[in-house]
Amino acid sequence: MSSSKHHSTATTAVYGSDEMVRPAPTMTIPDEMTPPEIAYRIVKDETYAQTQPRLNLATFVTTYMDEYATRLMNESVAMNYIDQTEYPRVAVMASRCINILANLWNSPEKCESKCGAVGIGSSEACMLGGVAAWLRWRERRMKAGKSVDKPNLVMSSGMQVVWEKFCQLWQIELRQVPLSRERRTLCPKDALRYCDENTICIVPIAGVTWTGLNDDIEALDRELDEYNRATGHDIPIHVDAASGGFILPFVSPDTKWDFRLKWVMSISTSGHKFGLVYPGLGWVVWRDKSLLPKDMSFSVNYLGAEVTQVGLNFSRPASQILAQYYNFIRLGREGYRRVQQNCMEIARYCHERIGAMECFENYSDEVVNPLFVWCLNEEYNRTAKWTLYDLQAALQQSGWMVPAYTLPKNIEDIVVMRIVVRQGMSRDMADMLLRDIESAVSEFEKLQYPTASRLRYEKEERQLGRIFTH
Ligand SMILES: *Cc1c(COP(=O)(O)O)cnc(C)c1O
Repeated sequence: MSSSKHHSTATTAVYGSDEMVRPAPTMTIPDEMTPPEIAYRIVKDETYAQTQPRLNLATFVTTYMDEYATRLMNESVAMNYIDQTEYPRVAVMASRCINILANLWNSPEKCESKCGAVGIGSSEACMLGGVAAWLRWRERRMKAGKSVDKPNLVMSSGMQVVWEKFCQLWQIELRQVPLSRERRTLCPKDALRYCDENTICIVPIAGVTWTGLNDDIEALDRELDEYNRATGHDIPIHVDAASGGFILPFVSPDTKWDFRLKWVMSISTSGHKFGLVYPGLGWVVWRDKSLLPKDMSFSVNYLGAEVTQVGLNFSRPASQILAQYYNFIRLGREGYRRVQQNCMEIARYCHERIGAMECFENYSDEVVNPLFVWCLNEEYNRTAKWTLYDLQAALQQSGWMVPAYTLPKNIEDIVVMRIVVRQGMSRDMADMLLRDIESAVSEFEKLQYPTASRLRYEKEERQLGRIFTH
């Protein structure tokens, strides 16, 4: 770089500019302006994806939308959802989406506009469902002259991190029902053993992030009904249906997990997972208005309109809401059913092929959401020279993101690998992936010495008293 500072102009070649040979600003705002094309390039070049987003089988979040949806979202990028004077129809559209979801989840509510809220993702939606349950519990307790200082929430240890955040932020005791090799989802009877008069709600999961399985919500509801009757408590259910909320209604309409069940008072889902919208979008719906505490609705006069809002955020982009409504119109029930059914079919195909490989073992025989996990076959693992972490790295060489990780507390000794099949994954791509897995495995089988990750694993196993020989 020359010592005299050149001022880049619109005619400076982008990669001939001084900015391109200087470190990017990390601590202080630059003193001078930068031509837009150069600034654009600096930002763009730093954010290139590690792989093709569509080859990222780790994420649940939408990476494909059709061109009209993409156009709609780009065109509404400057729309602020909360500005109802400027964009009065966006809130109306959000209410329509809430109505549609409430009906999809068999809401018994008779009135015309259903009770729900839009959020940035399931995290915000879960928080709102959780806060509502907590405030209802508080009010009931205070009316009865009882203490309100020890609220708790009960769910399986297969929960997503948002519930840890919720409990931490609102100072609610999180009671985790451990999973085990035998109990791979929340055991209703166990869950009730963790409950008492201070339980604000039980949170079963439709589409457990770690395994892809569903908690048996119908059985939980049945047991809970008996429990509530026997104890005089009225502990409600909030369903975390981040994935399942957009899967079950289409691929398993007869499974009862939603408002058809007596104690299900609220449900949250991610619009940006199987709702098929780019991030960030979440929804929460209450069974009826009486379940949303008044303290959670805030009325403000904003830029000339009277806005009543439920949510942790205020300003937010409108694009995702438009895109969700677009998807409902574009796809309809039949379109969603077909897309989700195809995802299920491809997930089942991969599940079967992977399960048939000598070195692997599926974690579960059933595939109830378009994702599944598998592990190394126990027998095979005794003499293997590699681990699933090696396979993860090998697949990354061909652009695939397929994560390997350990399961939650109590079954944390099980290392699994997971595939999430989203819209955009075809049978052809599945075959490519399976070929890449097979060729990686056949390379591993030629290894003379164990990999570094295998050595680490064996060291840990030896510390636990299990012996390996090579
Ligand atoms: C993804 C997920 C969440 C969090 O959802 P975001 O939309 O990413 O905020 C919560 N619960 C479960 C079960 C999930 O899978």
